[in-house]
Amino acid sequence: MKAWQCSVCKYIHQGSRPPGKCPVCRVDARRFIEIDEASIPENKLKRNPAKKIETQVKPQAPPPAKTTFEKIQSLLIKHHAHPVSVHTPNGILPAIVILWILAWIFDSDFLAKIAGVNMIFVVISLPFVIFTGILEWKNKYNGAMTLVFKLKILAASLTTASCIINLIWYLLDPNILSSPKAWVFILMTLFMLTAVGVSGHIGGKLVFKD
Ligand SMILES: [Zn+2]
Repeated sequence: MKAWQCSVCKYIHQGSRPPGKCPVCRVDARRFIEIDEASIPENKLKRNPAKKIETQVKPQAPPPAKTTFEKIQSLLIKHHAHPVSVHTPNGILPAIVILWILAWIFDSDFLAKIAGVNMIFVVISLPFVIFTGILEWKNKYNGAMTLVFKLKILAASLTTASCIINLIWYLLDPNILSSPKAWVFILMTLFMLTAVGVSGHIGGKLVFKD
């Protein structure tokens, strides 16, 4: 059997010809390169019966024992920790932005406080979201540095930076929305919303493959 690798996301397909479209990053068949089957990592190989018989005859040494950290990592990947955990920032941020805008329009300290408290939750969740994202990228996509992933990393970095700046700015100057610089603050929250939107959009494409 031949093996083909997507030159964009490193997805490996086994068969006589490449798939019409990459099921992961959706590029067309022309982007697939025929590769030597021997170079495919063991965990990417499709089980084939011949191989099974061979292992029965000549049992392989058991895989080296995993460390606790490696066990946690594979559990996190298996249970989709990244797509699940992104719901904290992605779900709360649009609500926070609406709260900031309402707090600004109605000059309400109360609404600003709610937004600020929610922002603390988002900032606390970010290290976990980033960690699980890197895990998934390294394991599922072999750490491929293609345009899709560069954009994703850029958007995630901008989201993180703008969230942290947003929270610190509010904590240092709780009356920012009543000051003449309020529009800069609001503009930044809109930027933050765009960055998280782009991150989520690319992530959704990778997860749902459509
Ligand atoms: Zn691909």
